[in-house]
Amino acid sequence: MNDKLQKYVKLAVNVGVNIQKGQKLLIRCPVDCAYFARMAMEEAYKAGAQDVQIQWGDEISARVNYLLAPDSNFGIEVEWEKARVRHMVDEGYNMLVVYASDPEILKGVDIERIQKNQKVAAQTAKPLRDKVASSAIQWCLISVPTAAWAKKVFPSAKSDDEAMTLMWDAIYAATRVDDDTDAVQNWQTHIDIMQNKAAALMAHNFKHLRFKNSLGTDLEMALPEGHIWVACGEEAATGHNFVANIPTEEVFTAPLRTGTNGIVYATKPYVYMGDVIEGFWFKFKDGKVVDHGAKKGGQLLQKMLTTHPNADYLGEVALVPHSSPISQSGILWYNTLYDENASCHLALGNAYPYTVKGAVGKTEDELNAMGVNQSLSHEDFMMGSADMSIIGVTHDGKEVAVFKQGEWAI
Ligand code: ZN
Ligand code: ZN
Repeated sequence: MNDKLQKYVKLAVNVGVNIQKGQKLLIRCPVDCAYFARMAMEEAYKAGAQDVQIQWGDEISARVNYLLAPDSNFGIEVEWEKARVRHMVDEGYNMLVVYASDPEILKGVDIERIQKNQKVAAQTAKPLRDKVASSAIQWCLISVPTAAWAKKVFPSAKSDDEAMTLMWDAIYAATRVDDDTDAVQNWQTHIDIMQNKAAALMAHNFKHLRFKNSLGTDLEMALPEGHIWVACGEEAATGHNFVANIPTEEVFTAPLRTGTNGIVYATKPYVYMGDVIEGFWFKFKDGKVVDHGAKKGGQLLQKMLTTHPNADYLGEVALVPHSSPISQSGILWYNTLYDENASCHLALGNAYPYTVKGAVGKTEDELNAMGVNQSLSHEDFMMGSADMSIIGVTHDGKEVAVFKQGEWAI
C-alpha cells in the first residue's frame, strides 16, 4: 500500500469531512478513481461511520450521451434523482466529493445541451447545495488524478503512467502530504495560520477593499454589513469542524452585491464547459458587469455571464498569498480546486449565506436585497498576482495594508 495515498485518504475522511462516530457519509466519485472511494469508505467505517453510500459518476458515458442522445432527452427532471437528493438531505448525510474531471471532456458538445442539463442538475441538487452552502453538514471536495487530466497538465509525459506519477507528486506537494510528517498535524498548523488571518480581517471590519496591480486591475469593492471572513476548518451545524476544500489556501467572504466598481483583469485562464477562456477582464458598475473582454473564448465568457440570473454579480472575494504551494508549483492545473488556490480570486454568481451574519435561512429575494448575491452559478476566476496590493478601508476611513506584493501584510 502506498503510504502517501493512505495519508491522503485519511486527510480527506478525518480532516476534510472529519467523519464522526454514528454519522452518515455520501461519497461521490468518478468510476475511474473507484479505489479511492473504496479506501475512503473503509476509513470512514473505521472512524465509526454509521453508513457510507457511494454515488458513482462517469463523464465518458455522459459525453456519449451528450453527443448521441436525441434532443428531447435534455433538460428533463428525473423524479428518482430528486428523491435520492431528498433522502440524503433528510437523513443528514455528510459528503465527500471526488473531483477528477477531464478538462476537455465536453469539448465539441453542443453548449445548449450542457446548459439544459446543468440547469436541471442545479435544480435537482438544490436541497443538498443549500445544506452545503449553509454548512449544515460536514463536506469536503478533493481531487484524484485520472490519466486524461494528468496528460492535459503534463503534456510532455511519455506515458499515462508517467503523467499519473507527476500528477500525484504535484497533488501531494500541494496538499502537504509527504513521507516524513503527519499530514493531519500539518493541516492543523495550516488551519491555525489561516484562521488567524481571518480573525485579523474580522477585527478591522473593513467597509471597502481596493485591489491594484500592474496588469491594470483597479477595483473598489464594498463589503456587506456583518460580513464574515471564512478560513478553512469551519464548524458545521453538526458541531464538528470540517475542511470544505483540500487543498485550500483562501480566506474569503462575500462582496456587497451592488458595491463593486472598477476593472479587474484575470491572471489565469479559466476552463469553462470544456474550453479555455484566456486574457479576460470585467468592468463593474454598482456590482454588475457592464463590460468585459477576452483574448480567447470571448463568446464563452458571454455565456458564462448569462446562463443564470445574477451570474453577472459577484458572490465571493478570496485572498490567497502568491507564495502558496500551488502558486509555487507553477502548474496550470485545469482544475478550479487547485487553480483557485494559486491566487486571489473573485467568483461571479452565488454568495455563500454563511459569509454574512444573519443571512443563513433567508429567502433568495431577501438575500439579494441584503446584498448577498444569489445565483445558480458560481464561477471562480483568478486575479491575484505577484504585485497585487490590497488596501482595506475601515468605516472611519482608516487605510490598512492587507496585501503587499502579493503577500499577506495584515
Ligand atoms: Zn474561493
Ligand atoms: Zn468560489
